[in-house]
Amino acid sequence: MGEFDLIEHYFKSAAKSSAGVDLGIGDDCALLAPAPGMQLAISSDMLVEGRHFLSTVSPEALGHKALAVNLSDLAACGAKPAAFTLALSLPHVDEAWLAGFSRGLFTLADAHGCALIGGDTTAGPLNICITIFGHVPTGQALLRSGAKAGDDVYVSGLPGQARLALEAFRGNISLEEKGFALTRERMERPTPRVALGQALRGIASSAIDVSDGLLGDFGHVLKASQLGADIDLSAIDSIAAHAYFFPASSRFDQKFLRKMVLSGGDDYELVFTAPASKREAVQAAAQATQTHITRIGQTQAAPGLRLLEANGELAPNDFTSFDHFKS
Ligand code: ADP
Ligand code: MG
Repeated sequence: MGEFDLIEHYFKSAAKSSAGVDLGIGDDCALLAPAPGMQLAISSDMLVEGRHFLSTVSPEALGHKALAVNLSDLAACGAKPAAFTLALSLPHVDEAWLAGFSRGLFTLADAHGCALIGGDTTAGPLNICITIFGHVPTGQALLRSGAKAGDDVYVSGLPGQARLALEAFRGNISLEEKGFALTRERMERPTPRVALGQALRGIASSAIDVSDGLLGDFGHVLKASQLGADIDLSAIDSIAAHAYFFPASSRFDQKFLRKMVLSGGDDYELVFTAPASKREAVQAAAQATQTHITRIGQTQAAPGLRLLEANGELAPNDFTSFDHFKS
């Protein structure tokens, strides 16, 4: 199977159209026509074998995850997905792999009304790069720089689960079968919080998605907003204690579980801030989108990130986040 047949069979034939896409796959460029009053939100993410995924991952899960991490970026800006391009480097044409990959990819794409509009295909080490395009009303994107002192800090979902699975894959911990299946699912098939991100427009003052670890990524918000924050460790413990965090969380000590939640990475949850006056609106947005959220602290004018025990005592912050060039 040659390059063009491969594109036609696995990608072009499955690509649907979407509002705002005037021309999709097949010409030298795709053509997008954003509606008046809307801005285009654009983001790219690259997935490299051995770095971002293990060779054991199923092609279907990989197709899902490659798009999910991009949708997560749109979610963090409060944008509505519209279209994406796919640049694919493949060691050889493996039809079973391509069929699984495109199934995982298009199942998620179709669920979000996000159309594949083009890409590039070449031979080489397995590498997947997606660029995604979304729409957001002009001036309403959620930005890292928008937090104000005294805002509440929230996180969606149960960050830390993906890292538990990674630690199990690495042989550093052992999980019983059910816990492993559950956390592996979170690692391999993350749920981008697309609906929550859009529901938070006009409510949240800032947002970011968690790819490298909750504290590290939230640190980018604090830096951009020139603020500090107090994080409430009892809220972090409540995330780790959640029944769905992983059924046997009682087997691990508090410090380890806090590390999973605060610096695990690969979560694709949203961390966002909102003024305390918007607490009801935040809860309503979470409920309307059926997303679990936890209020985990408050921003402060004083710089720095402080971790506070329930009794107000300051805990040491040794929760560094993932850095591709260091670990
Ligand atoms: P060009 O050489 O002009 O860049 P190509 O021959 O690489 O175009 O691709 C032909 C068409 O197929 C283009 O419209 C391109 O966007 C699309 N395409 C190539 N690879 C992919 C892919 N992996 N997924 C979706 N569309 C693709
Ligand atoms: Mg090309």
